[in-house]
Amino acid sequence: MQITLGVPSPWFVKSVELNTSEERIDVYFDFVKGSVFACPICNKPCKIHDTKDRSWRHLLLFHYDSYIHARVPRTKCEVHGTKTVVIPWSRQDTGFTSLFEADVVALCKEMPVASVAERVKIHEESAWRILAYHVNEAIERVDLSQLNTIGVDEISVKKGHKYITLFYDIKNAKVIHIWVGKGKDTIKKFKHAISKKINPEQIKYIAMDMSPAFISGVREYFPTAKIVFDKFHVIQMMNATIDDVRRKEYKTNKILSKTRFIWLKNPENLSDKEKKKLHSMKDIDIKTAKAYQFKLALQRLWLLKDLVAARNHLNTWYYWAAHSKIEEIAKLAETVHTHSYGILEAIRTGLNNSVAEGLNNKIKTVVKRSYGFKTAKYRNTVIYLVAGKLELPSGLSTQC
Ligand SMILES: [Zn+2]
Repeated sequence: MQITLGVPSPWFVKSVELNTSEERIDVYFDFVKGSVFACPICNKPCKIHDTKDRSWRHLLLFHYDSYIHARVPRTKCEVHGTKTVVIPWSRQDTGFTSLFEADVVALCKEMPVASVAERVKIHEESAWRILAYHVNEAIERVDLSQLNTIGVDEISVKKGHKYITLFYDIKNAKVIHIWVGKGKDTIKKFKHAISKKINPEQIKYIAMDMSPAFISGVREYFPTAKIVFDKFHVIQMMNATIDDVRRKEYKTNKILSKTRFIWLKNPENLSDKEKKKLHSMKDIDIKTAKAYQFKLALQRLWLLKDLVAARNHLNTWYYWAAHSKIEEIAKLAETVHTHSYGILEAIRTGLNNSVAEGLNNKIKTVVKRSYGFKTAKYRNTVIYLVAGKLELPSGLSTQC
């Protein structure tokens, strides 16, 4: 038992009670009489002032719920007065042992928190509190010393109304900050937050969409960083434009019925049926098919490694798109042209934000689930859990 719990002296196991009808094990700890304990503030050995009986929920032992009980001393330090001592098997102010909490955290990675709570027989709110505590601790420990390339992205967390802004460490493919809201202010907050750990000037590249608020925020708060408009966001915009064209044209041309995803997917991801349908439509005289050709032409940009060739390709594309006589495409062409510096920067650096693309889907799934959360405060906890690559305590229950 002492090995399982890692209980160092002067603590020892005084007794163990096994209650088979209630399927529980109660373990009683005590400390050696006459022991002195360190003041939790200055670490100076102090005499005991008094003790208080406490209990902690521990792991399942042999499929039984187990509990630890002990009288916890308070020291009387000459400088700091009466303080509860640090106990080795549990952090302050929790009714659970550290091993039990580690188990809860490990399970939360695998299943919804409500299911974890049910499985280990604690309140859902307790499970959330344990998870939030350890996630926040792990965030504090995240090493940003090598951080120089970040991605910024906003996602909606309540249908169309509320947004959060995510900051990614692109090289390590993980979320490092989350702020409620979108726009310039979130860039300012991010700078403030990372300034506690690093010099913000070490950020060399910031990948993002073409939102004017982000651009203006980066120029103001990260003036030495290069703005990169990554492929993911450019194509996202291109797809939104094709969709606008299709929706408008569909009103007068029903041939476009049920074709939405055919125009949005990459050709290689189409099913045979979709390929046939696309083939039958792509050369006919409809605006949607033309808009689609502009997307294919634009996509070829990222196959070019040479910056001069890429610049020429983009200029040519711009010329044809601007003269396409498709209002939406012409408008997009102007946007792309105005922002070509950041698109070409992506080509020059080889930077892509496929990280955000992959993580976004993962995050959207948990955010969707979070519509049901009692409070939004745990939404960020879950995002960090699935996308933060945090170093969290690992569970032990499989060993018991
Ligand atoms: Zn002290």
